[in-house]
Amino acid sequence: MSDRNIIVALDPGHGGRDWLMRRRTGAQVGNFVEADWVLEWSHKARRDLVDAGFPTVMTRTSDEHVRFRERGQRALRAKAEIAFHVHVNASIDPEYQGVTVYTWPGNQDALAIASVFLACVPEHWRAGHRRNPIVAHAPRDEEEAWMNAPRNVMRHFPMTSILLELGFATNPTDLQMLKLGGESLIVPLVKAARFAGTLLGRQMWAD
Ligand SMILES: [Zn+2]
Repeated sequence: MSDRNIIVALDPGHGGRDWLMRRRTGAQVGNFVEADWVLEWSHKARRDLVDAGFPTVMTRTSDEHVRFRERGQRALRAKAEIAFHVHVNASIDPEYQGVTVYTWPGNQDALAIASVFLACVPEHWRAGHRRNPIVAHAPRDEEEAWMNAPRNVMRHFPMTSILLELGFATNPTDLQMLKLGGESLIVPLVKAARFAGTLLGRQMWAD
């Protein structure tokens, strides 16, 4: 039994213009545009993952609008076994800060992989606001309306999928740190992918 390099999908949030609203979506604070930053970080993450031996596909590679369903299909076509959705959070409460990670309810693998990712992000980002759980489940139903955003992002990805909200653009400290070194937040993806390879690869071999 040995580990193997699983196929990874990176899903940089937003991009392009919404077809209905004809505007950019995602967090925009001053000159910080979430769609652009998460794309740049995802390109770097892809290079890191490929260097580490993981075949990696991106659901968008430029400033284009891609619907949630199409994103999931692109990941599926590439036979991705794990997907990381890359976003930056925003809130009306400027005190909300830190990284939040969402997993689908009941997916224990995703929870374990998310924990490995979180253990590797720099300390500052792990100091989640008390009302902002660091690891949360995307809800299965419509009960918690505020949770619909994570659910919409993840629902078309049948493989193990993890939504990374990399800090809050609406928190001044987070924003400054994202601008100075936001890339540091995606470096742990390689470790998370290695762990996922151990976990998911082993399970497939055991089947
Ligand atoms: Zn977003």
